Amino acid sequence: MSFDYPGRIKRLQEAMHDSGVDVILLSVGADLPYFIGYEAMPSERLTVLVIPGAGEPVLFVPELEAPRVAGDLVEVRSWGETEDPVGLAAAVVPDPTRVAVGDHMWSVFLTRFQEVWTDTGWTPASKITRRLRIRKDPAEIEMLRAAAHGVDRVMARIPEEVPFGGRTEIEVARHLSELTIEEGHDVAEFAIVASGANGASPHHQTGDWVIGEGDLVVCDFGGRWGGYFSDSTRTFVVGDPSPQQFEVHAAVLEANRAGRAAVAPGVACEEIDRAAREVITEAGFGGYFIHRTGHGIGLEVHEHPYLVTGNDEKLEPGMTFSVEPGIYLPDRLGVRIEDIVVCTKAGIESLNESPRGLVSVA
Ligand code: ZN
Ligand code: ZN
Ligand code: ZN
Repeated sequence: MSFDYPGRIKRLQEAMHDSGVDVILLSVGADLPYFIGYEAMPSERLTVLVIPGAGEPVLFVPELEAPRVAGDLVEVRSWGETEDPVGLAAAVVPDPTRVAVGDHMWSVFLTRFQEVWTDTGWTPASKITRRLRIRKDPAEIEMLRAAAHGVDRVMARIPEEVPFGGRTEIEVARHLSELTIEEGHDVAEFAIVASGANGASPHHQTGDWVIGEGDLVVCDFGGRWGGYFSDSTRTFVVGDPSPQQFEVHAAVLEANRAGRAAVAPGVACEEIDRAAREVITEAGFGGYFIHRTGHGIGLEVHEHPYLVTGNDEKLEPGMTFSVEPGIYLPDRLGVRIEDIVVCTKAGIESLNESPRGLVSVA
């Protein structure tokens, strides 16, 4: 399956027309690969795709990076070391009224465009691109599924192959990253390993803390597969769980199940959060679920839609996001169970399928 880049650009130009935008500038960030399959190098040398409201897009790249651009999807113009790329790019659309700029374009470039186009309104490109990117097409879902299944295979290998007790968190994290690559990812992007009391910090800075017998260990990791992210969390126990550890884990497990069960087209994002949160509140841990229930995922690990109170945006088939409730008891422990799911016409497909129960490790 391949990506329909020309179709995406066509839909983008229609959306630009509807929002009165004459030109879009895309540089570093996920919008550029979404529309042409090329990722800009984050560098002081400008790479920018200029997409006019009508007509062909032009990609400006530094001359020395031109060999990286494959295919003939767009016109490529390379600029030499002594040329002014902003002036060249701005000349494509001489006098725009309204310009949309990729959310991650560096301000050093944006401010120079603003010096050239002085009589122009500016808006973040995501206002237009998010509507396209939020619903994944079958080729994208295929990538996300492959990535999720890769991480599932790592999860399955953990009890047999990954020792915990007596090793540092960072040793285990490196091990998980190695397995993530072994199971087919192009890049292992992150691995949070949070043991014992460290688990109470959802984005714990994995360190040289030594994992002990009886610790709960939150393992949250993922990588990129053909550009698309995996991101899954399971919580393991070293040896046998205490009654309290088991109780907290059971509540999160039920919240994860309730969150997934609530997913269907037309349901508001905040309803998924409410369904998961309700379970945790009823179990008596409401004050300890200190983050939203989930985030969209695709070419970025966190993107729209966000499953959070106050987001009444309705789920649609093709939206992909995490369901990741957790309970964090300060100075004691943490538990999180995270799955990537896709909203389908029938309801839901969970892309992660590894067992969610409390699995004991050595
Ligand atoms: Zn997170
Ligand atoms: Zn995660
Ligand atoms: Zn996540």
